[in-house]
Amino acid sequence: MAVTVKTFANASEAAGALSSDRSARYLGGGTLVMRALNEGDVSISTIVRASDQALSRIDASGPRVTLGAGVTFARVLAERDLAFLHAPARSIGGPAVRNMGTIGGNLFAPSPYGDFTVALLALDATIAVAGGFGTRDIPIEEFLQARDRQAGTLVLSVSCTRPASTEAFRYRKIARIKPKGGSVITLAAHLPISGGRIAGARIALGSMAPTQIRARAAERALEGRSLDAATIATAASAASEGTSPSDNALGSAWYRREIVGVHLRRLLSGQE
Ligand SMILES: Cc1cc2nc3c(=O)[nH]c(=O)nc-3n(C[C@H](O)[C@H](O)[C@H](O)COP(=O)(O)OP(=O)(O)OC[C@H]3O[C@@H](n4cnc5c(N)ncnc54)[C@H](O)[C@@H]3O)c2cc1C
Repeated sequence: MAVTVKTFANASEAAGALSSDRSARYLGGGTLVMRALNEGDVSISTIVRASDQALSRIDASGPRVTLGAGVTFARVLAERDLAFLHAPARSIGGPAVRNMGTIGGNLFAPSPYGDFTVALLALDATIAVAGGFGTRDIPIEEFLQARDRQAGTLVLSVSCTRPASTEAFRYRKIARIKPKGGSVITLAAHLPISGGRIAGARIALGSMAPTQIRARAAERALEGRSLDAATIATAASAASEGTSPSDNALGSAWYRREIVGVHLRRLLSGQE
């Protein structure tokens, strides 16, 4: 089937084209879209692209960092000011995928992908989107819950918290094939400390539900406490609460539930 490619110089025009055509798909880096087209996905008859520079802008100057949806993982890795995001960026695919794959595309990548989004969820990200309604900012959890209904909206940028220290943000991806395997599970934790105690912990999990989720029971176990062995053990034992992982070629749901607490304990203890 013929596919029409429409390129716009302006993001809002691209958003208009996306929202008015149910068979249109936005092309970020194309690492998933082109695969779908090459496999003969007939649900896509229009590809929408935007060359708007705003989509590849990085603002890393303040306490909240803003990344254009078209920023690639290779660009994140080249920015010293984004060192806290280097581990999640480096964990994605090989160099070719990191060179093309974008932050915007990662928000839509189905499990076992979406590793960078796990980090963004822990860092309380906000997603700026444009659609038939104009533009608006959506908290990342709300965005992920409605992800299947986001077709027709263009992600413009993502803003997230800059952790106060290296210790305050931790990331871990468990994969069978290194360095570029799909995730068995992915974990990220933001652990702000106030007066020696954790205040506002966010723990995010990938491959533990249809989309990335927060481990809220584990977060509650950390809240207001110091990060000692007893607190870590309580949080780890609550890690699988509220999760609904699936079986796939990389691991069974049972296995994922068994290991998530082990890896959360290692993450919180600072073990490799
Ligand atoms: C060999 C290989 C290895 C991979 N390894 C990993 C991995 O380890 N971890 C991982 O997380 N992912 C992995 N991926 C998946 C993928 O490369 C990444 O998730 C990447 O971030 C997708 O971004 P993209 O720009 O290429 O998306 P695209 O393919 O361009 O788009 C993917 C989806 O997102 C939508 N989209 C893209 N940008 C926007 C936007 N701005 N607004 C609205 N919709 C948008 C597209 O319409 C499409 O539905 C891998 C892929 C391949 C082929």
